[in-house]
Amino acid sequence: MLDGVRLPDAARLPGATSLGAPLSCLNEARFGIVFGALGAARDCLEVALDHAGTRVQFGRPIAAYQLTQQKLTDMALELGKGFLLALHLGRLKDAGRIRPEQVSAGKLNSVREAIAIARECRTILGGSGITLEYPVLRHANNLESVLTYEGTSEMHTLVVGQALTGIPAFRTAPDPTSS
Ligand SMILES: Cc1cc2nc3c(=O)[nH]c(=O)nc-3n(C[C@H](O)[C@H](O)[C@H](O)COP(=O)(O)OP(=O)(O)OC[C@H]3O[C@@H](n4cnc5c(N)ncnc54)[C@H](O)[C@@H]3O)c2cc1C
Repeated sequence: MLDGVRLPDAARLPGATSLGAPLSCLNEARFGIVFGALGAARDCLEVALDHAGTRVQFGRPIAAYQLTQQKLTDMALELGKGFLLALHLGRLKDAGRIRPEQVSAGKLNSVREAIAIARECRTILGGSGITLEYPVLRHANNLESVLTYEGTSEMHTLVVGQALTGIPAFRTAPDPTSS
């Protein structure tokens, strides 16, 4: 806890004139997560794909069953869409045109979809999926914390909601009956 702390002017962050300076660091870190979370999802999908092709049940690899193929297809689609969004945001960033709510949209989408992919891959691995023999649950566990740090999924939802509606919903309206 920091309470009543006073610092000399020499301790000021060089070039910083407002809270925007430290917040811009968060924007950088969040942008990294847009790609990082998808990397975890890609590892999960590669492991699940390999396992589905080699694990034989009822005389066939489980990759031969339509339910497994649907899972793999849906995950590949979400991963591909996530990467395209990340790439697009990266190009906007390189051009110096990315807006904070776009970083929020990217972080929210990447982490949310990566967790969903990790969980789905876990089902393809069956019982083995709950062990640390495979990296999938380790990724899922890590992604749970990524959902919270660098801005919770709820906060990024509200950032995008504000960008769409112009109405900030971070605080409830003051109670008109209270004095
Ligand atoms: C692994 C890990 C590493 C971290 N690393 C760092 C770090 O390096 N630096 C750092 O400063 N912090 C770090 N954090 C802290 C992280 O930023 C906070 O945990 C996060 O901001 C949520 O704050 P909180 O835990 O106090 O939860 P709370 O603020 O109590 O929130 C609890 C829940 O309520 C929701 N909520 C809160 N207010 C609202 C609202 N107005 N509207 C809707 N929903 C709301 C939140 O989204 C969340 O779901 C880290 C956390 C984790 C798990």
